[in-house]
Amino acid sequence: MAAIVQKYGGTSVGSIERLQAVAERVAKTAKTGQPVVVVVSAMGKTTDSLVQMAKEIAATPCRREMDMLLSTGEQVSIALLSMALQELGQPAISMTGAQVGIVTEATHSRARILQIQTDRLERHLNDGKVVVVAGFQGIALGENLEITTLGRGGSDTSAVALAAALKADRCEIYTDVPGILTTDPRLVSDAQLMDEITCDEMLELASLGAKVLHPRAVEIARNYGVTLVVRSSWTDDLGTRVIAPERMPRKLEGLELVHPVDAVEFDADQAKVAMLRVPDRPGVAATLFGEIGRQSVDVDLIVQSIHEGNTNDIAFTVTKGSLKHAEAVAQAIVPALSPDPATCQTEVLVDREIAKVSIVGAGMIGRPGVAAQMFSTLGQAGINIQMISTSEVKVSCAIDAADGDRAIAALCEVFDVQMSSVRERDPDAEATVDAEEKPPAVRGVALDRNQVRLAILQIPDRAGMAARIFQLLAKNTISIDTIIQSQRCRVVNNSPTRDIAFTISEADVDSGRELLEPLLKEMGCGGLVIDRNIAKVSVVGSGMIGQPGVAAKMFAALAQEKINIQTISTSEIKISCLIAEEDGVKALKAVHTAFGLSGSNTVGVRA
Ligand code: ASP
Ligand code: MG
Repeated sequence: MAAIVQKYGGTSVGSIERLQAVAERVAKTAKTGQPVVVVVSAMGKTTDSLVQMAKEIAATPCRREMDMLLSTGEQVSIALLSMALQELGQPAISMTGAQVGIVTEATHSRARILQIQTDRLERHLNDGKVVVVAGFQGIALGENLEITTLGRGGSDTSAVALAAALKADRCEIYTDVPGILTTDPRLVSDAQLMDEITCDEMLELASLGAKVLHPRAVEIARNYGVTLVVRSSWTDDLGTRVIAPERMPRKLEGLELVHPVDAVEFDADQAKVAMLRVPDRPGVAATLFGEIGRQSVDVDLIVQSIHEGNTNDIAFTVTKGSLKHAEAVAQAIVPALSPDPATCQTEVLVDREIAKVSIVGAGMIGRPGVAAQMFSTLGQAGINIQMISTSEVKVSCAIDAADGDRAIAALCEVFDVQMSSVRERDPDAEATVDAEEKPPAVRGVALDRNQVRLAILQIPDRAGMAARIFQLLAKNTISIDTIIQSQRCRVVNNSPTRDIAFTISEADVDSGRELLEPLLKEMGCGGLVIDRNIAKVSVVGSGMIGQPGVAAKMFAALAQEKINIQTISTSEIKISCLIAEEDGVKALKAVHTAFGLSGSNTVGVRA
């Protein structure tokens, strides 16, 4: 029988009583005859206390010694839990990461798992023992055997990696919340428990989901098709199933080092509508996309770049077949957008000759260079990027349709993936999807208040410019989120320029500025504007693909609260808006309610 892996977090093993309760639960599963591997975290806030102790000795303690120190936390829990199981008459044995053979790279404090040896584990399981494994740690092979840790929250990753290596039936993550909620319950009291969510949705909800589940754990589950369940340690409730796509068998060597990109996608059936100089005030995007949604035109990418003066540019893509219709709607709406039609400067431009090329893969998370590599690959091939859309698992660029073949070839080569089939939309296939089976358009809503927006003005509009900027940041391990390139092309000193805005985490702002300023001068850019007062609100759901009106509903909810949308960016399953920070919680509540996610079930969250 296939094994089951159960992981218990720090709070779940936070005291002797709780450890004993966990032992009872584990023993109950083991009684059914199914082999059980248990992964545990350090008890309660042990890891934090250990970090604190180190800080009292050194401001920046040596990373090797930190791993030596932090790995002890889990060692306490595994020994105690094994004893508790033995007291219940359940044979059990504890093992450290090194004893199991959880082999990692030799990078202290954030090692990735390379391989897991299963023979020792399996021998104990065959003897009828529960094996209790220390989470968060591994061993790097080489001249010296080094104890490594996987990064904070890494026990989830240990558990899912073990499940992948053992080809386990499923991996259950036991925690102090009932599962994955539709939004952050500390900000929105009527957040609801989700029954299920896909791995991709979970990854896109990073700022919401990462608190519950280590993103690297979700990445492994997605890549190896591990069935994951997140549930409460205190109840028998079912929790949330995190659904992994079915996978071709994949080799287990280099477990976490698999290609960051696993596909290049190409969509030739795209056309662009750009609206230049629309007024910058609440309700404009809602009016525009509301009308487009009412006309049942399905919009794919939407990009609203940073405002210039008191106007914005909004660009979106639709299928070629609906371009005429979309253009007509956009033209018709122009007078309604401006309070005084006489001074209205809005202009609608269309481009039939575009295509969308995307790179896809869960491994982009935490590897800042991947988007930059895409841009530089396109740049080197002399391909100009017209629109950029980035999300956690996908980067898409709208390019000239004529460049399509070259773009695919160059990207497949650089990312070492097979030539992906060219995706032409098949309307019949979409129509046959049963409405009942369709996942909800929006599964969850997240608010991220730790981002700062950087805007680079007047970048020369030539191939390769975005690449230089993002490569420099990537080289210095600064992760970028939500890149937005303006539509408006401004001619400065006889050459066309565009603006690019993006967000980075607060902690990276100062080093980011120091890095960028000299480069921007050298490139002849206009300047760098930093805005710390922003928040990002995002909706995520795989059901939004092919369903008109989802963006409109989000924008309308914000408009009703009189919240101005500063920028918009989308991926296939996510729509994000940057807004003023002080509007963040209000926006989150409004959007959560608008999609019918709030409910009356109180979701107990126990500390
Ligand atoms: N004990 C480690 C931490 O607190 C790992 C974990 O709990 O997942 O980050
Ligand atoms: Mg955790």
